[in-house]
Amino acid sequence: MKNVHMSLEGGHTLALECLLANGCDDLNATAIADRMIQAEGDLCHSHGLFRLPWYASGVKSGRANGKARPKVEQLAPAVIRVDGDGGFAPLGQEVGHQPLVDCARKNGIAALAFVNMFHIAAMWPEVEKLAMDGLCALACTASYPYVAPAGGIKALYGTNPIGFAWPRPDGPPLVFDQASSSMARGEIQIAARDGHDVPETAGIGPDGEATTDPNVVLAGAQLGFGGYKGASLAMMVELLAGPLIGEFLSVEALEDDGGAGGPPKGGELMLALDPTRFGDADGFLARGEKLFTEILAQDGTRLPGARRFVHREKTGASGFEIPESLHETILGLM
Ligand code: NDP
Repeated sequence: MKNVHMSLEGGHTLALECLLANGCDDLNATAIADRMIQAEGDLCHSHGLFRLPWYASGVKSGRANGKARPKVEQLAPAVIRVDGDGGFAPLGQEVGHQPLVDCARKNGIAALAFVNMFHIAAMWPEVEKLAMDGLCALACTASYPYVAPAGGIKALYGTNPIGFAWPRPDGPPLVFDQASSSMARGEIQIAARDGHDVPETAGIGPDGEATTDPNVVLAGAQLGFGGYKGASLAMMVELLAGPLIGEFLSVEALEDDGGAGGPPKGGELMLALDPTRFGDADGFLARGEKLFTEILAQDGTRLPGARRFVHREKTGASGFEIPESLHETILGLM
């Protein structure tokens, strides 16, 4: 497989031009391109330019609003809603960030419900940004039915990621961001594209039988990580990012798509906690560091998020690569 090398700036320009050519305005295209190149910079290819055809087709088909103007509304003293105006999540998240920070500082805790938007991105950018502002943050979203409930064989839950971030005194925050499925769907799609096997824990075929063939998993159902425990977390995310905030369950998002194969429409719930308001304003940072020091004192450990931060330092200077086939697909969209 041949690759095309590009700088972060070059990748950003490519994404921007492709989104503009497919019906996004500058504000929306820039917010999406920023997120995508942030992912490439952290070597999270499954949320980088790989997603561009999906974003572009979502706008071109008229399902997603490429000229969205998200609106912020205060529903309760500690509850904010951002209506994404039918656009993609990155712009809504930009618009909702500061109101959520302000609300969490005022109340000690605040929730933000994102509704009426298309979400196909990673969770770490938004929780990391909140932790950079000194807050502890949690975010989750649902998608399309890809994951079978525990014991079942039919896909019902999204791969439903959960992102968490904790502020640190020096350097970037502690961040983990993980699907509640055994593997993120994008990783399985990339394995299918590149002809690699996936672990048997990734999913089952339509007959419920174990398989390592990514194409068979894509036709069947993914599995939650750690069996029923991951499946329960996926169920929790369905409830928090769906019914709690008046948004779609993953199965409803698929019905809404009507077989068009576009990106999933749905919600995202974010929680922000101000650690200075929970009774140990002077001590929480040091106690957190104590935990991280103890973790890292053990051989074989690393902190979640560390891989991304190491790559971030490098990719800024050296750029990144995408498969030539993806590059050609993107050029063909313009
Ligand atoms: P991974 O399994 O690759 O990683 C999950 C988390 O575990 C990361 O924070 C990672 O940190 C951390 N981690 C990995 N290895 C170790 C280790 N040895 N020690 C400590 N921590 C470790 O992620 P997933 O495949 O589950 O998800 C990938 C992305 O896909 C996520 O960003 C998620 O939000 C996104 N996603 C989005 C969906 C959507 O519908 N919008 C659906 C599902 C997933 P590090 O980054 O440093 O490796």
